[in-house]
Amino acid sequence: MRAPLSKCEPAHFFNFIKEGSLFQQSFKLSDRSLYALAHGCQKLIKLNISGCSSFSDNALAYLSSYCKQLKVLNLCGCVKAAPDRALKAIGYNCSQLQSLNLGLGEEVGDDGETSLAYGCHDLHALDLCGCVLITDESVIALANNCLHLTSLDLYYCRNITDRAMYALTHIRVKNRNQMWDGVKTGDEDEDGLMSLNISQCTALTLPAVQALCDSFPALHTCPGRHSLIISGCLKPTSIPCACALQAHHEVNKLTHHAY
Ligand SMILES: [Zn+2]
Repeated sequence: MRAPLSKCEPAHFFNFIKEGSLFQQSFKLSDRSLYALAHGCQKLIKLNISGCSSFSDNALAYLSSYCKQLKVLNLCGCVKAAPDRALKAIGYNCSQLQSLNLGLGEEVGDDGETSLAYGCHDLHALDLCGCVLITDESVIALANNCLHLTSLDLYYCRNITDRAMYALTHIRVKNRNQMWDGVKTGDEDEDGLMSLNISQCTALTLPAVQALCDSFPALHTCPGRHSLIISGCLKPTSIPCACALQAHHEVNKLTHHAY
């Protein structure tokens, strides 16, 4: 049960705050602190409580019901105990969320993750590194609902299979369809996925990842840009990106002109 807050709680004087960072390894952030933050900083747009512990998923759900303007939320290393209820609340309350870090969320499951995908259509960046429980179901929900996704980290999500990769290629198809339907207004990202980490996703096969790379030219495996990270997940490990195709065309052109 939440302890009542007095009107004189200092947090009430900080309602203008739009950014908060309480990042500190092993920092103990109690439920009461989160309740105070929720009441006092309802205009928060960015919040970083990565590495903080000791608060319950109930408190996090409560925070989301007050801070509905959140666009950037970093929960890396702090969503541990039964987080699905909190993630459902975030999906329900924080529809403006654009960037979410759930890294090292060992208890994050498809239930919470799909709720986020259904509620937060504006997600651009999602970090699920080390969320070992999530399956294709989560990624498919993202691909179907979060069409502005440009950055996705699935490091060590070993349940992810080729189905998820093929589902992600549909983001591009859906974006194109929306453009033809006249829904697209011009400021959306045409490039789709620009950063993807599927390192240690050992169930993936080469054709599925190559299909994804072909769909999103901004995904690079070349050393200079390296926006598609595949180490430890594919055999063979080489996937040609758009640069390789470009170089191939250049060589062909030069060869052609030489004759
Ligand atoms: Zn490249």
